[in-house]
Amino acid sequence: MARRPTCSYYRCREAGLYIVELEGSRYFLCRKHYRALLKALREQAKAKGSSELGELVVKRRGGGIIFSAP
Ligand SMILES: [Zn+2]
Repeated sequence: MARRPTCSYYRCREAGLYIVELEGSRYFLCRKHYRALLKALREQAKAKGSSELGELVVKRRGGGIIFSAP
């Protein structure tokens, strides 16, 4: 029986609906955190003129991840 993926974001228990690849690892994200990721990318694009997933700061915390624009 396949386990349904849950969001990889720190302490989030929502269903993981989106897959993102960060620093060579794959993570599931729920709708809310996927939107938060897109928002961080947009803000980074505004500040720097470019936007790539690999440029986001991703930290591992308590078995999950947190991310933010640098
Ligand atoms: Zn989440």
